[in-house]
Amino acid sequence: MPATSPVSLPVSSPPPHAVSRLRAARLARSSKPFLARGGIKGERCPGCRLVPSHCMCALRPSVPTRAGMCLLMADIEPLKPSNTGWLIADVVPDTFAFGWARTETDPALLALLADPQWQPYVVFPGEFVAPQRVVHTVTQDANGRSGKRPLFILLDATWAEARKMFRKSPYLDALPVLSLEPAQISRYQLRRSRRDDHFCTSEVAALCLQLAGEPHAAQTLEAYLDVYTHHYLQAKQQLPFDADDMAHGRLRDLGQPAPLSLRRP
Ligand SMILES: [Zn+2]
Repeated sequence: MPATSPVSLPVSSPPPHAVSRLRAARLARSSKPFLARGGIKGERCPGCRLVPSHCMCALRPSVPTRAGMCLLMADIEPLKPSNTGWLIADVVPDTFAFGWARTETDPALLALLADPQWQPYVVFPGEFVAPQRVVHTVTQDANGRSGKRPLFILLDATWAEARKMFRKSPYLDALPVLSLEPAQISRYQLRRSRRDDHFCTSEVAALCLQLAGEPHAAQTLEAYLDVYTHHYLQAKQQLPFDADDMAHGRLRDLGQPAPLSLRRP
């Protein structure tokens, strides 16, 4: 009898996260099926929304974070297969997601914003806001541990929708507005070799994690987005994905504990 045959444990899928639940609720309300323009047709994995041949559920990283994310999503945003709020919810354990409507507000959202464990920040460009509300840093005390946990409110929508959401949500009016500074943005673009100014929601979330002093979580979210983008585009072109490309390698490296030689005694 072999003494050390490798045992593969069944992978139990985690319970659906906030964006997954919001998507299911939104789908249930649709009278006709949502057809994503240019999206992938056919069967999708419920865990990652990709075709089963390109499923990346096994790569889902789990990073404990002190920061939380609160996604306010425009109506059809949870239905878009390319929505990256989903990836945030995969990586950041305390991710909350709410559908936005001008006429009604989920009481659970108001309760979350009033929860004393959190310091909410609305992430929005400062140039559109009264200067006294604008902040550029996330409050941390000397040891970075005690005090309130930052909760980043991300408006997951097109720019036009996001502006409307910002203006017509009175419960956001009293909160500080975290405005990402051009220097932070250009550093980020350099690091990521990006040339345009358009950030997807998960990139904004990664910048927020960086500001909150959680670089490992920030880098994990970035690498995970790159892996997702690769799988998504390859699936769209019906090409196999490359599990050994740079993005996969980076995500794997980030998941490894530091080598023993680098650990403190
Ligand atoms: Zn999957």
